[in-house]
This record gives sequence, structure tokens and C-alpha cells, in this order.
Amino acid sequence: MKDFNPLEKRVFKYKNPALEFFCPLCRTKRGFLYSPKMKLKNWMYVIYATIFLVMALYPFWELKSFFVFFVVWGVVEFSVRQLFKREIPCPHCGFDASWYRRDVTIARKKVEEFWKNKGLFPTKVK
Ligand SMILES: [Zn+2]
Repeated sequence: MKDFNPLEKRVFKYKNPALEFFCPLCRTKRGFLYSPKMKLKNWMYVIYATIFLVMALYPFWELKSFFVFFVVWGVVEFSVRQLFKREIPCPHCGFDASWYRRDVTIARKKVEEFWKNKGLFPTKVK
């Protein structure tokens, strides 16, 4: 197993990845496009969307329409987290670090399922 090379060659390189690491299961280099935290770009989006919605709602709700800021913030923060979560499972081996932290047996099943779907899981891994 010593001369097993990382599978780096087939990896798509991301421009300015938010996070770079090696998959602990298959040793492929991974890159995340999205960060789980709100960036300046996301805050600008929240502010622009709020201004637009306040302008639209002000005739009806007046000062209460500024409450829309919290709704927009919640929606943007939620979608930023969803985009990050979608990237966690390794596309090369199916290893899901978030499941590994919560429940190792489920993480193992997910890897097994991944290889079964590829038709490449001949034996049981202990
Ligand atoms: Zn992997």
C-alpha cells in the first residue's frame, strides 16, 4: 500500500478555493468553492436586497419594513451554509466528513453506498 499515489491528477483545480485539504480516505486533493461563513459579497447582497425590499414595502409597513433585513440575512446565511454542506462529501470516494463526526457507522454506509452506485464494491470492508 506504500506506493499508492494520491489521485491528484484527476482533480479539477479551483480558482481561489475557500478551503483546501486532502481527503482522509482516498488522499485526493480537495478544494471548496464556498466557505461556511458570510463573506463581504454576501453582506453586500443582503444590503442591496434589503434596500430594494424596504423601498417596495415602505408604503405599506413604513418603519416596520426594515425588519425585512433579518429575513434576508437569514435566507442568505442559510443558503451559504447549504452550498458549503453540499460540497462536503468527497466526489471521488464518497467520504462525508460531517457524517464521520456525528456517526461513524453512517459515514461508512455512505461510502459503501457510493461505491455500490458505481458498481465497484465487490467485498465488505472491515
Ligand atoms: Zn475521498
